[in-house]
Amino acid sequence: MNSVLLLGSDRFTAIIIAQVRGLDALTLTSAATTSTARALMARSLPDVVIAQASQLIDGSVVKTFDRSLRGTFFIVVEEIWPSQVPPASQLDGQSGESQGRSLNADSPTGMLTEHTLLYGLSDLLSEKTAAALESGADAYLWLTPAQTSSTSNLVQPTVQPQSYSYSDGPPDGEEMTSSVLFSESQQRLAQAYLQVGLARAQRHHTLLQIHDWLSAIALVDSLTQVSNRRAFDLELPRQIKVTRAREAQLSLLMLDIDYFKRVNDRYGHLVGDDVLKQLAKRLLNDMRFYDTPFRYGGEEFVVILSNTNLTEGQALAERLRQAVADDPFELTTAINDVSTIEVTVSIGLTELQLEDDAQGYSFLHRADQNLLRAKALGRNQVVSA
Ligand code: GH3
Ligand code: MG
Ligand code: MG
Repeated sequence: MNSVLLLGSDRFTAIIIAQVRGLDALTLTSAATTSTARALMARSLPDVVIAQASQLIDGSVVKTFDRSLRGTFFIVVEEIWPSQVPPASQLDGQSGESQGRSLNADSPTGMLTEHTLLYGLSDLLSEKTAAALESGADAYLWLTPAQTSSTSNLVQPTVQPQSYSYSDGPPDGEEMTSSVLFSESQQRLAQAYLQVGLARAQRHHTLLQIHDWLSAIALVDSLTQVSNRRAFDLELPRQIKVTRAREAQLSLLMLDIDYFKRVNDRYGHLVGDDVLKQLAKRLLNDMRFYDTPFRYGGEEFVVILSNTNLTEGQALAERLRQAVADDPFELTTAINDVSTIEVTVSIGLTELQLEDDAQGYSFLHRADQNLLRAKALGRNQVVSA
């Protein structure tokens, strides 16, 4: 469902509702003041904001909203009155007479006067549009109140603001008492802007989804579905920081499959891949909820053990070692009558020391050294000192 926030007086809100009437599936919310609008937007970002220009002091509020806007499309709407169109002499530095554009009551055809008004209006609108876009709006829409005498193709704002109307203060004083009418072309322009805004919001939502999805797959190992090396490099410094802030303990274990090359050589790489997958599953099954395994590379895994001292880490590492060694791994299809493989792992364990660097290089290096010792001592064992 598309959401639109209307920021402006009750009359403004009613006019806009009349303009966008007929567009499907819109949730309209209205706010009478910028502070209310901001509070509403903090709760949930609308797809489109349609704001009355007079609510945005010098357009600067659009800028203040901007940072939190992200995918929100911001339309500024202003009512332009004939009295606001500047006389020809103010339009530019050039002389009105030399351009033949001065207001001239004696003009035989009235063309000069029409041109003058046209230039004046077009300059005014260009200037206002530019100012709105420069201050962070995505679109500027002007409404010129039509003369009440020609009502043939005009749209009357009969729809009242919906129940979600928030008001922080008295309604603004610029309210007009007479009913104001807007042309069909203005309604069409407002709807077109709104459609552009909703389409952009939709694209933004899709991009966010793709972004989340890509971020997730960028941190997961595609073979084993556990977090990957990149995730580990991000997570380790964070864990060290949290541990030090809480004056807690942190342990790290590094695990490597013993003689894994033989598995590949004897049974092929697909079987090797399957062993890696099964191993990751066993690690996950036998770990505590808060322990996170990462595939560090090849057939090496690391596990960050938060709030864990060396003694507790040893017990956990031993449990993981046994979980691998005690039950042979089943092959999905038997190879040369072999349907299971004995797999063992060696584990190096260490605990975070005060002198370890914040990135975790020395911490990780110690775990790695202990792993090498476990290999040298005959494999299928845990070394922690
Ligand atoms: P050690 O007990 O000393 O650790 O011996 P090892 O054979 O396990 O160690 P080595 O480093 O000699 O061999 C590791 C092997 O792991 C070599 C490599 O082909 C294999 N390997 C690494 N990543 C993968 C993978 O994703 N799939 C498969 N099937 N094999 C992999
Ligand atoms: Mg290795
Ligand atoms: Mg190995």
